Amino acid sequence: MIRHEDNYIAGEWVRAGGDEFRQLVNPATEEVYAEVRRGTPEDVDTAVQAAKTAFADWSFSDIEERARVLRATADAMESAADEVTNSIVREIGQPVSWAQRASTATTIRDLRNFADGIAEVQWEERIGDARIRRLPAGIVGAIGAWNGPIRSVTLKVGAAIAAGCTVVLKPSEVAPLTPLLLARFTEAAGLPRGVLNIVGGSGSVVGEAIVAHPDVDMVSITGSVGAGARVMGVAAKRVKRVALELGGKSANVILEDADLVEAIESGIQDAFRNSGQACGALTRILVPRDRLAEAEAIAAAKADSFVVGDPTDPVTDLGPLANLDQYESVRGHISRALDDGVRLITGGLDRPDGLERGYYVRPTVFSGTNQDRISREEVFGPVVVIIPFDDEADAVAIANDSDFGLAGGVWAADREHARAVASRIRTGRVRINGTPIDMRAPHGGLKLSGIGREMGHHGIEDFLEFQALHG
Ligand code: NDP
Repeated sequence: MIRHEDNYIAGEWVRAGGDEFRQLVNPATEEVYAEVRRGTPEDVDTAVQAAKTAFADWSFSDIEERARVLRATADAMESAADEVTNSIVREIGQPVSWAQRASTATTIRDLRNFADGIAEVQWEERIGDARIRRLPAGIVGAIGAWNGPIRSVTLKVGAAIAAGCTVVLKPSEVAPLTPLLLARFTEAAGLPRGVLNIVGGSGSVVGEAIVAHPDVDMVSITGSVGAGARVMGVAAKRVKRVALELGGKSANVILEDADLVEAIESGIQDAFRNSGQACGALTRILVPRDRLAEAEAIAAAKADSFVVGDPTDPVTDLGPLANLDQYESVRGHISRALDDGVRLITGGLDRPDGLERGYYVRPTVFSGTNQDRISREEVFGPVVVIIPFDDEADAVAIANDSDFGLAGGVWAADREHARAVASRIRTGRVRINGTPIDMRAPHGGLKLSGIGREMGHHGIEDFLEFQALHG
């Protein structure tokens, strides 16, 4: 049993001030494996003061030094890659082979992309007699989500450090231990004390204390729409900048002449990564009406082919959902869809065969309309819905008929044609014919999916302000 008591403030591990402990449950075994002492608003204040002190120097540090620190942090994480991966597997049940590739290795790459991205930022420009400088936004409050215990926090911390900001980070209480490893790596990389501070605790207490703190200049959160809206409301009282990475209900548009098998199989692979607990998951599969039956059969076969089980086993495709709340929430969505009369193609409420313990759900495919609740609400589990369209205009209209605007996919025989359709979809990114995502390109959403962009040099620029020096 792990007992973790400390926050990380000004380069020291200091005991958190709270009297309560949060218990951590392994979602594959349902066993408690750790307890973590909660922080307090007073801890937040101490961390903010440390960040403020460090800001005086770090905000004027050489950009070459920031790039060096980020590369060294990436190197330190790489040398402890297995430790990071195993921590993610235990915390949220992410299958080990996926965690290694998509969490640990990708986060190391993100850090190196930020190091490279620093040189791509236009730090200064001239307009007439004015010199326009880019300034760090200040003291950043960073609030992480559990579905990417290391990645969601590194995308904020790495970019903020690159911008010359200092940070007070609150990880999700569901997955608080993996983010602490980041402090070890930045320390090994020589990041000055106080540039990164970490305070554990709940969103409603520690999170809000960070957002409301008068010396915090900007807040970046990854999480649900509800938490994002609440953060925006609290931040508004002191007119703070916010960056919000929130949810999605993204459409995978498969046009008439596309390779239906490849498009559906690739789309389901995308939608079910991290057991569907991915903000950009392509969870609405849009197919020509005359190919609906064919699409349903392909989707069912693909969903049924997933190996569901022990996340520590390298052959596992789909682990458990990350926690009991998430398990009940996803089953609630499935149950409501069944009550609504949406046609179940495969999966549903029965537990996967042979898995009596752990927060496992069956990979689930529905066939319905875009008006069904299951097509409109983010499920955040391995659940997709197939929706037929009449023609291309109808497909674009359905894709855009969503409260969210995070991601999308378009498949067509001709790439240019697919691109033209993609450019009519109002989301932050669209993948053409399954092209892998380039992690240097910006990630973020429109509408309820959020405000701002992460990754690469655009991610750094989210943590910068302009200053015009005239004359
Ligand atoms: P939550 O919104 O529950 O929590 C996100 C973070 O916000 C947690 O650290 C939480 O603290 C904190 N928080 C909650 N309320 C407040 C508050 N009032 N003030 C300050 N902080 C607060 O989301 P989940 O962690 O459950 O993540 C799932 C959601 O996140 C999904 O909807 C998903 O789509 C979205 N997401 C979006 C991503 C993107 O890039 N667009 C990426 C990943 C997830 P705590 O839980 O510790 O109490």
